[in-house]
Amino acid sequence: MHAAKLRPLLLPLLIASPLAVSTENPTAHQHGHAELQLALSGQTVELYALSPAYNLLGFEHEPRTSEEHQVVDTTIAWLHETPLINTLGLNCTIQASEVRYAFAGDHNHHGSEHDSENKGEHESHTDIEISQTLTCPDLDAESLLTSPMGSRFSALEHLEIAWTGPDGQGSLRLERGETSFQLGR
Ligand SMILES: [Zn+2]
Repeated sequence: MHAAKLRPLLLPLLIASPLAVSTENPTAHQHGHAELQLALSGQTVELYALSPAYNLLGFEHEPRTSEEHQVVDTTIAWLHETPLINTLGLNCTIQASEVRYAFAGDHNHHGSEHDSENKGEHESHTDIEISQTLTCPDLDAESLLTSPMGSRFSALEHLEIAWTGPDGQGSLRLERGETSFQLGR
């Protein structure tokens, strides 16, 4: 229906634009997808995770209700305290962790600047970044590893895992419901 109204000169532009979209960075903000980078060295794992806030909180706007603030507090505390990967024996412990979320420190300031007129479709997307340093005494090259992310966050559909270690590097993807993985050679 719409196409019938287009003048022929416009068609090449319209055909070109879907191609531009398809070359977008696969790691860009996409709801349902998150990425995890691991650097393994001996029993130490340096971990970096990047996820749309939607996957972890269920929303990306600035938290407004007390219920939303509670979700933020609970989730950020969990991300601080829970190793995002672990061995099957759950022996990894957190040496350091950091969670970056745009509205984490904003609890006392909401409502004043962006009042009700900003609600709705014009809100931008928000990511959450997590850095953790883990010590895993039972980690070796053959270890089967687990991640609690998929079972904790039901909106997470795909978790892309990229890793580097003494024996090389690789990547894999956990689909929804998959919790364990092995670092291939
Ligand atoms: Zn988003």
